[in-house]
Amino acid sequence: MKTIITLDELRNARQMLKGPVGLVPTMGFLHAGHISLVRQAHQECASTVVSIFVNPTQFGPKEDLAAYPRDLKHDLALLTPEGVDLVWAPTPEIMYPAGYQTWVTVDEVSQPLEGGMRPGHFRGVATVVAKLFNAIQPQKAYFGQKDAQQAAVIRRMALDLHFPLEVVVCPTLREPDGLAMSSRNVYLSSEERRAATILYRSLTTARNAFEQGERDTSHIRAIMMDILNSEPVARPQYVSCADLNTMQELEIITDRALLSMAVYIGKTRLIDNIILGE
Ligand code: AMP
Repeated sequence: MKTIITLDELRNARQMLKGPVGLVPTMGFLHAGHISLVRQAHQECASTVVSIFVNPTQFGPKEDLAAYPRDLKHDLALLTPEGVDLVWAPTPEIMYPAGYQTWVTVDEVSQPLEGGMRPGHFRGVATVVAKLFNAIQPQKAYFGQKDAQQAAVIRRMALDLHFPLEVVVCPTLREPDGLAMSSRNVYLSSEERRAATILYRSLTTARNAFEQGERDTSHIRAIMMDILNSEPVARPQYVSCADLNTMQELEIITDRALLSMAVYIGKTRLIDNIILGE
């Protein structure tokens, strides 16, 4: 496994890789969820590239960029046994050289939900992922269902900009009590960690209602909200029942739907989702 930093090194190393090449973009502080993406890439591709870059342009001015957890040494130790060929860990100066002014915006699908709460977030995500796709030229790129809207934005961008690659979306890995694995879980105190299980409990309770025939999304959202409100430490920001591709809210579920939410547990903002009708 080669770890590289500069663009020149990346281009040289990329030329030596056998195709198809699978890319797993990450912001580091890796956990089993990230590793599950790496394993799927390794299974499906001749070569696997992992990028590690805490992308400043997807953080809002009041968000946790400076505090975002980082541990490159530990990340490399986790990746070493996974058959990864290349790890690219560029600096912010490499990704955004002085005078930088080129952006990728994906219109409608970026606007609701996370896009509504985090203005500019998906512009930063789409821009950095487009740059990763250009630099690494993968045939497949792996993303987590955990960030469902991000996956929808990237799918749209890849289609619209004619990136010749397949966007693969992998299932969300969870802790034994249901909490979705996330680099941000380290921010939680032990009391908050206990309270954080409320996200998955509210999603699964709504799924039970769906399985018993409930199709009215206002009822489904109310079920999720009631459960979240039963936890004093939790402050829900939104709950949603939306179309999987457009992220527009549904009134009635006719086929499949994405149930998603953003919830503050103390100062930590957590997101989670499940798909209904699969
Ligand atoms: P991040 O480092 O948080 O930007 O995540 C990098 C990739 O890993 C994204 O495609 C995420 O959706 C994915 N990911 C994060 N957490 C999980 C998880 N618990 N299960 C599966 N994939 C995940």
